[in-house]
Amino acid sequence: MAAVQQVPWPTENCQSLFEHTIRNPVSTSGIGLHYGVDASVRLMPAKAGTGLVFVRTDLDDFEIPASWRHVAKLEFATRLLYQGVFLSTTEHLLSALYALGIDNVRIEIDNLEVPIKDGSSRAFADMLSQAGFKRQRRKRRYMRIRKRVEVADSGKCVSIEPAEGFSVQCETFFPHPMVGDQRLAMAVTPEAYLSGVAPARTFGFESELAAMRDAGLIRGGSLENAVCFADSGALLNDGGLRFADEPCRHKCLDLIGDLSLVGHPLIGRVVATCGGHAMHVALVRRIVQDPDNYEIVTLDQIEPSVNGLDA
Ligand SMILES: [Zn+2]
Repeated sequence: MAAVQQVPWPTENCQSLFEHTIRNPVSTSGIGLHYGVDASVRLMPAKAGTGLVFVRTDLDDFEIPASWRHVAKLEFATRLLYQGVFLSTTEHLLSALYALGIDNVRIEIDNLEVPIKDGSSRAFADMLSQAGFKRQRRKRRYMRIRKRVEVADSGKCVSIEPAEGFSVQCETFFPHPMVGDQRLAMAVTPEAYLSGVAPARTFGFESELAAMRDAGLIRGGSLENAVCFADSGALLNDGGLRFADEPCRHKCLDLIGDLSLVGHPLIGRVVATCGGHAMHVALVRRIVQDPDNYEIVTLDQIEPSVNGLDA
């Protein structure tokens, strides 16, 4: 496996007093998983306070902010929809941006789906590493969770509770001999993300492929961009898994990407039991619907020792 990180990543970036953008534009391209269309993506530095904003360059630079306010369908991918303009499969790119502590970037894209690359967020993390970081003058506004919030539905549950930093725990169960019960808990730091989450690929089961194709999904899917577990109990991909618990790690990747739609870096502990995109976004909506659930704070308000010399 190629090294994820070409340059040292600032450890403190996810606990920074200030917002960050990227230092230089950076681009990639490739086929999308569900719609099978080719797209080019270019990440551009953006001014403080911009947030993460997609820009459809094929539609007169129409802007779609990466926000829970603009979420459309959530089957097998997180799709944004704003004033009739659509963008699919945003979660892996958003996951890398959010985990690596990038607050402001314009994401120019010339089609309706973000490229799937190898099914993980490693290519996006590599790109960001190449682009470098730039600290900005605006203080970062964290969303600190004050009360436990939960969404639950027939044995599935996703919750967030007050905590010191930002951490996620995923518990998954898939009835396949190579998968079964898996569990991963991690503090979301750039190091932990780059080594343990970014390389984890999206996955599916042979038994589900026909139904997904019938639904018009996975038109760009292949063993180059997804792990596929065969009905025989084996793996269809050559080369095996990247981690024994790669599916659970990929669920963490998706969860982090979907949480980015809250629009602020979170301070809280998230636990997802058999969650998926719809439940992740339902949790975000439940958090924001009651202002008593959170407070918006800068780091110097909660840690007086922070002096701004962190980057
Ligand atoms: Zn995914």
